[in-house]
Amino acid sequence: MTNDKLLRQVEAFMHDRVIPTEIEHHRQLLAADNRWTYTPIMRQLRAEAKAEGLWNFPLPEDLGGRGLSLTQYAPICEMMNWCNHGPELFNCYTGTISNAVTLDTHAPDHLKDRYLKPLTQGDVRSTISITERNVPSSDPTELQFEIRRDGEDYVLNGIKSWATGAAMNECSFILLLGATDPDAPRHARHSLVLVPMDTAGITKGRIETVMGYDDAPFGHCDLIFDDVRVPAENLIGEEGHGFVLMQSTLGVGRIQLGMGAIGTAERAMMELCRWADNRIIGGEPLAARGVVTDAIARSRIEIEAARAFILQSAHRMEQDGMKAVRADIAALKVLAPAVALKVLDRAMQFHGGAGLSWDTPLPEMWAHMRTVRIGEGADEVHRETVAKLEMRRQAERRAA
Ligand SMILES: Cc1cc2nc3c(=O)[nH]c(=O)nc-3n(C[C@H](O)[C@H](O)[C@H](O)COP(=O)(O)OP(=O)(O)OC[C@H]3O[C@@H](n4cnc5c(N)ncnc54)[C@H](O)[C@@H]3O)c2cc1C
Repeated sequence: MTNDKLLRQVEAFMHDRVIPTEIEHHRQLLAADNRWTYTPIMRQLRAEAKAEGLWNFPLPEDLGGRGLSLTQYAPICEMMNWCNHGPELFNCYTGTISNAVTLDTHAPDHLKDRYLKPLTQGDVRSTISITERNVPSSDPTELQFEIRRDGEDYVLNGIKSWATGAAMNECSFILLLGATDPDAPRHARHSLVLVPMDTAGITKGRIETVMGYDDAPFGHCDLIFDDVRVPAENLIGEEGHGFVLMQSTLGVGRIQLGMGAIGTAERAMMELCRWADNRIIGGEPLAARGVVTDAIARSRIEIEAARAFILQSAHRMEQDGMKAVRADIAALKVLAPAVALKVLDRAMQFHGGAGLSWDTPLPEMWAHMRTVRIGEGADEVHRETVAKLEMRRQAERRAA
């Protein structure tokens, strides 16, 4: 199948089945006895997407995926994010894809059989656990969580926070980054281990809210580890290589994040333009006002510029490799959510009260998009990277 045909399939799936059932999904969540599991509508849509081959898009075919390259996957990321829960319906939540790529590339076979297959088949969920409340987690080299070797086991002690998806009933394992050698050089202190969720000594702690949203059914929760033992063979990659391993999924993760923000901005445009056509104020549609057309035009220009930059970055990642494109990878992490937030804000403003209510998906999308400026490295960290690389480039130019 050509990528074009696949794109049309995803577009139709989102338009015809996901967006129209968005409100029903929220109703089901509100009525649920247990908010930490898929709603019936999500289960149905996941089953349909899987049956139609709209599943695991960037993963290789032997993992039930489509083997899409970054540039092929990018426009699909955009469309899946017309709804906040869209990626999950195609088993393409960022953490699922990152964890699958990490296991596929670095895990021993026994872990692949036991955890990777069920994850890619959509039978279980996973979480990635890096952040610690008492440590500035923008810089993962600072993490203090203890992973101590004891005979044939590792013993884990500490508290992790903000583990997205860990609250779900379906969450069966954690990829956890912690310190195996706190005295080693900064980038060699940490290791990545797979921890089954049902291991003795793990307690799920408080579930965070994000500006009032609990982000059910996924949730972000604390995980408390009290002398938790896992076999040493649950190590992913080599001891001390955790930080480097985390970087290995950067490409697909960043494209998913950047194009996801573009998808969110496009959804805001759909809502804004429909509303501007239909809302009659002073005897004419809101769209007749210059302030509104100006906002629409600005939004379109900003979205197109950001999308072009991200697609160019994806192309360069494939052509030149991650190292050569470090500045772009950092820049798009700052640019994409900034554009999406601006477009969302304009759409909310022209909706009046409706733009701040459950009548539109805009406020929840805004709340989610606001977190993207902090998660996976705050804006300031990425701007610092862009500036450092620019200074180096200019110095090299002067020296040449
Ligand atoms: C909705 C949501 C979901 C999340 N999901 C997960 C998850 O699944 N797994 C997980 O492990 N974590 C997760 N996190 C946590 C997230 O990754 C961290 O919050 C993020 O890495 C920032 O770390 P911190 O909160 O410790 O902030 P800090 O590192 O303390 O930074 C605080 C602020 O200081 C400033 N700052 C930091 N460094 C610099 C610098 N070098 N220069 C200038 N200013 C700087 C920035 O403004 C930054 O926002 C999630 C967070 C949210 C909000």
